[in-house]
Amino acid sequence: MSCIVSDRGYVEIWFEGYPGIEDIVSAGFSTLLCDSSTDFVKLIGLDEGTFVRGRQVHGDRVVLVGEGDSGSTVPAADGLVTSQRRLALTATFADCVPLFMVEPSAGLIALVHAGWRGTVKRIAEKAVQVIVDNGGLRERILVALGPHICKRCYEVDEMVLRQFSCSYSRADEFFEASRPGHWLLDLDRANRRCLEEAGVLTDHISSCGLCTSCSVGLLSSRRRDGERAPLMRGAIFLK
Ligand SMILES: [Zn+2]
Repeated sequence: MSCIVSDRGYVEIWFEGYPGIEDIVSAGFSTLLCDSSTDFVKLIGLDEGTFVRGRQVHGDRVVLVGEGDSGSTVPAADGLVTSQRRLALTATFADCVPLFMVEPSAGLIALVHAGWRGTVKRIAEKAVQVIVDNGGLRERILVALGPHICKRCYEVDEMVLRQFSCSYSRADEFFEASRPGHWLLDLDRANRRCLEEAGVLTDHISSCGLCTSCSVGLLSSRRRDGERAPLMRGAIFLK
């Protein structure tokens, strides 16, 4: 378990494998309990307005952003990376996997939106590469997987299974047959494998353990509640 629900109603995201990491980075995920009138980045400890987001398209583009991007929306970006202190990276989520990443020695963070399409496109690996291209070391990267839909709640069809089989060896490990032509997909396991194959150490990867669909009353799920369900927000910033 790498998170708790704070007394302010949001999920505090923790990283494992680096003592004192809480002095370097802050990350959180909004819930239905958060006061929607309060700016979420303020809730996790940052001044208003100092955030950047990507226009999420279920793609695999990961973009490095800096101080000049504050307040902007980066076109077609499902992953953002920055070394800029006190600039929050934010993204919205329904059931997709939020990947919070930090390379504490190089002072780099990333926030990635990985649904099944982004996971097939190996967006986690692409975020690792952007961190490395900007001076980070793979073996120092810490990753926390935030709340997302769990395997028990996430049934997919053969088209999805086929695409994973083209993108991953042993992709069958991510799937469990549920009924004819349908499988339960373990997005957590697929993203962990993607990160490990990108050189992230296994004991540097942790999962929040909260399912958006199972957590009735706490988290919103489009799979559970339909397209009108409110989106949740993830944010991370370097202190
Ligand atoms: Zn679930």
